[in-house]
Amino acid sequence: MKKEFAVIGLGRFGSSVCKELFRLGHDVLAIDQDEEKVQDVLTIATHTAIANATDEKALQSLGIRNFEYVVVAIGDDIQSSILCTLLLKELGVKKVWAKAQSYYHQRVLEKIGADRVVRPERDMGMRMAHHLVSENIVDYIELSSEYSILELKATDKLHQRSLIDLDIRAKYGCTVLGIKKMDELNISPKPTDHVEKGDILIVLGHNRDLKKFEDTGM
Ligand code: ADP
Repeated sequence: MKKEFAVIGLGRFGSSVCKELFRLGHDVLAIDQDEEKVQDVLTIATHTAIANATDEKALQSLGIRNFEYVVVAIGDDIQSSILCTLLLKELGVKKVWAKAQSYYHQRVLEKIGADRVVRPERDMGMRMAHHLVSENIVDYIELSSEYSILELKATDKLHQRSLIDLDIRAKYGCTVLGIKKMDELNISPKPTDHVEKGDILIVLGHNRDLKKFEDTGM
């Protein structure tokens, strides 16, 4: 179903969000106070506007409260990011997702009502560190401070063994959500499904259990 989004701040992060939403077939209003930034997204947004997003009247005249989702992608200017988020919530925008630069910026945004706060540099840094530490980790998604989903490349140890035989849940407390083989993704693996060397296992669990599985089970 087509949704309507507004993206405020068209730096590297905001323009990338805008481009992908548009590519997925949604309506996107792209806003920045810098005319050049707005020019750059003309072909990857449904509508564009040059406006200062800390100006309440400007936001009102854009009909911002009619958007179900508004993304605040103002990065370096923390004061503007905070003020804009506050105004959007006061104007009654249902879902405000914002990008934060630091832990304290994130805390403030959450306090004033941001519905979701992301820290792309930190998250990407953490993901990269996980890739660097273990060659078997293909990807890493943090669900909370304790739980994650890992994509792990199956080693010799798992080759041609079934899930029932590996018994990963009982031994390690982790759940295999899916198995990727070449381009094929099996998202509801059966206990009798076999793992081959090089397959990617998508595993959910407590960080402690995932580490144990990675260190001793793989
Ligand atoms: P990134 O790190 O993703 O590149 P930046 O902080 O460099 O993010 O870019 C943020 C964008 O937000 C810039 O294009 C800037 O012009 C825009 N911006 C900053 N403050 C406001 C504001 N008050 N209203 C509208 N746009 C703003």
